[in-house]
Amino acid sequence: MYDNDISGVVAADRAHVWHHLIQHRAFDAKDPRIIVEGKGLSVWDQNGREFMDAVSGGVWTVNVGYGRESIADAVRDQLVKMNYFAGSAGSIPGALFAQKLIEKMPGMSRVYYTNSGSEANEKAFKMVRQIAHKRYGGKKNKILYRDRDYHGTTIGALSACGQEQRAAQYGPFVPGFVPVPHCLEYRAQWDVENYGQRAADAIEEVILREGPDTVGALCLEPVTAGGGVIVPPKDYWERVQEICAKYDILLHIDEVVCGVGRTGTWFGYQQFGVKPDMVTMAKGVASGYAAIACLVTTEGVFDQFRDDAADPLNHFRDISTFGGCTAGPAAALENMKIIEDEHLLDNTTAMGARLMAGLEAIKDKHAVVGDVRGMGLFCGAELVADRATKEPLDEKIVAAVVADCDRQGVILGMTNRSIPGFNNTLCLSPALISTADDIDRMLATIDEALTNVCGQS
Ligand code: PLP
Repeated sequence: MYDNDISGVVAADRAHVWHHLIQHRAFDAKDPRIIVEGKGLSVWDQNGREFMDAVSGGVWTVNVGYGRESIADAVRDQLVKMNYFAGSAGSIPGALFAQKLIEKMPGMSRVYYTNSGSEANEKAFKMVRQIAHKRYGGKKNKILYRDRDYHGTTIGALSACGQEQRAAQYGPFVPGFVPVPHCLEYRAQWDVENYGQRAADAIEEVILREGPDTVGALCLEPVTAGGGVIVPPKDYWERVQEICAKYDILLHIDEVVCGVGRTGTWFGYQQFGVKPDMVTMAKGVASGYAAIACLVTTEGVFDQFRDDAADPLNHFRDISTFGGCTAGPAAALENMKIIEDEHLLDNTTAMGARLMAGLEAIKDKHAVVGDVRGMGLFCGAELVADRATKEPLDEKIVAAVVADCDRQGVILGMTNRSIPGFNNTLCLSPALISTADDIDRMLATIDEALTNVCGQS
């Protein structure tokens, strides 16, 4: 397909590509890694070296694994027939995927297509603001977000960022975004038995402080991803739901990471019986085979944007150019079919349990593992310098553990330049097709890396 020899590709990359999320100084001593091929859980670099990818494309994305010809075929067939028309018109895959998605999301009704997780969240924020203008004289416009959560890279989404290091240097931010405390019991802020309820009560305290008539929405990740793989307990969600209903606050669930199978249900919120008003999703929707993100709302939210003949601006005055691309929903339809046909939700639950049990066993063996957390194939291990004080392990040592896994041929992730002092969680999110052998290899690799870097405990 490409006639460049690989050394030319590496030189072109070195000279012209500005890589994401990395200090380019890293490439002074060694070449950038070019991923040239993938199949299943494996990727190959420019030197032909094979790696097992335990993080689904680095950032929780390639849920059905690499090299899926049926997705490529579906996208190709669609593109040669009809590649694009602006989203004011419909498309065949757009309509069919929306229908299929809503089948998996009882209580939800409308799908708004866009390009990225950040953008889907921006759309949700805009809807909250517009509802505030339409119904509450502009007043009920504040959006609450949780400490340690992340909702994207744009200035609006960074205004709702609970991860200090991602947002530092990019202010000033958009007014009206207000933080609420995280609910990581391992780093408890309250000494109580019902931690989840207490953490949710803290949200109510913020609402009362700000004034309930000023708060329009609460935006939460079902399981906090980059902030340290934090799984809120069920009683947290029950209280959150009550609080939102009590103060007429829209519940916006950010499923950009959890969405489409990652936790073992189609969506993370379904693990907790939550009934959201708005759901955003991106990464796993088409497993990275095409760029697609969605904002899904209830009919109740949609109803507030129905055209009003007296006011021509009374609709959602928004567009994403590439929200009209057909490649995304075509890929997403096939992605969902694969998950169904191959029973990948069940596999995720079973393999996730195996991964968690294995991480617990590693915790028993290595004192440096302070806490293990996860749900489905979405797990983390928080590393500490001292179990008694829970002092976080230096992030350079955590990075050395990740590097040792890489040396052994397994690509792992870590909470990376997000929360000062707490970039200490190893992250695993392998594709939903992972087998028991795959999981065991990941675990053995981590075990060995901890021994190599931190010494036997
Ligand atoms: N929301 C969450 C929970 C995420 O983890 C991310 C990205 O990592 C985003 C939103 C932003 O998505 P995108 O990078 O597609 O804009």
